[in-house]
Amino acid sequence: MPDQSTPLLLVRFRAGVVGERARGCHIIPAPVESAMPARLVALCGTEFAPGQAELLPRPMGMPCELCLLRIPQARPDQLNAR
Ligand SMILES: [Zn+2]
Repeated sequence: MPDQSTPLLLVRFRAGVVGERARGCHIIPAPVESAMPARLVALCGTEFAPGQAELLPRPMGMPCELCLLRIPQARPDQLNAR
């Protein structure tokens, strides 16, 4: 599990990868490595294969409730673009 110091990223599936209704906004702990891992896994368990994820500069669309519930600590400041 990510600890509270882990930066969080907002991602959703790119258009065309899934239906519009499935394009909710998921929360992903930022990868520690400089290179992107093969798969990104959201806090809710949703997996993004390479090329499927769209990084969001700010919350857009419908947030994933499960991701929101699993944020290690309520840190809304981490979700803002810096
Ligand atoms: Zn999610």
